[in-house]
Amino acid sequence: MPRAVITHGHGDHARPGHRKALATPETLAIMRTRFQDMPDTEQQALKYGESVRIGEVEVGFAPAGHILGSAQAVLAYKGQRIVVSGDYKRRPDPTCPPFEPVPCDVFITEATFALPVFHHPSDAGEIGKLLRSLATFPERTHLVGVYALGKCQRVIRLLREAGYEKRIWLHGGLMSLCKLYQEHGVDLGDVAPVSEAILETFKGAIVLCPPSAIADRWSRRFAEPIAAVCSGWMNVRARARQRGAELPLIISDHADWPELTQTLKDVGAPKVWVTHGREEALVHYARGIGIDAEALHLAGREEEDS
Ligand SMILES: [Zn+2]
Ligand SMILES: [Zn+2]
Repeated sequence: MPRAVITHGHGDHARPGHRKALATPETLAIMRTRFQDMPDTEQQALKYGESVRIGEVEVGFAPAGHILGSAQAVLAYKGQRIVVSGDYKRRPDPTCPPFEPVPCDVFITEATFALPVFHHPSDAGEIGKLLRSLATFPERTHLVGVYALGKCQRVIRLLREAGYEKRIWLHGGLMSLCKLYQEHGVDLGDVAPVSEAILETFKGAIVLCPPSAIADRWSRRFAEPIAAVCSGWMNVRARARQRGAELPLIISDHADWPELTQTLKDVGAPKVWVTHGREEALVHYARGIGIDAEALHLAGREEEDS
């Protein structure tokens, strides 16, 4: 595209190859890490709260609370304000500033978990399950499947906040983004790649890896591993089975149903466009409280949180 405004670094939102890309400094850093530095893209960094004029539109970013650098795009034109949420969540995340509701005329919201059955439990409770399993099976490796961008670093921080100070081992595919988070001031404590282990049995260790690595040859080296997977989709039993998760942990970077409906009330937009997930239920809910709501079907959606 000649010009792209990018809400955050996940693959279904950030693509390489644009002539110009406007994003937060953190999102641009993530994109450079994932897309070989993007030498052909003119990169324009905009911090939260700042704005820039593009033609007749004033463009700004507000925190989305989803992953490092994630932003809602705030577009102002002739006294009207449109907010594009990108992906977001409302609960605290130690790796990024919290979602900021921006009052607006049109709110474009994601809807990944937009069904009333989706009610994510507390993060601390889910991390507690992992630590209890570790205490119960101190000889076994706990292999924890996490998405490389965002979930991985958040789970490490949640473990640290729960008092876990030992070394956390990482699959090689998680290293570069962990390094990037550390460079942006997110303290991950003692982390090291599995490939650097010498005389390590991994008994009773926590090893983080992409979910796909759990069923891979790679996982054979560990001592009677217990497979955990951290995802909002662990709400769905069939998904947990499909992922081979003996210990499904419901930790999501997306808003659940109560967070989505609360957000519609907080931003107070008379018009709402719903995209990126289960549009129908949220459209129905919004209309029920007097909002002019519609489903907006966008191309190229993937479930990066699966
Ligand atoms: Zn995302
Ligand atoms: Zn997404």
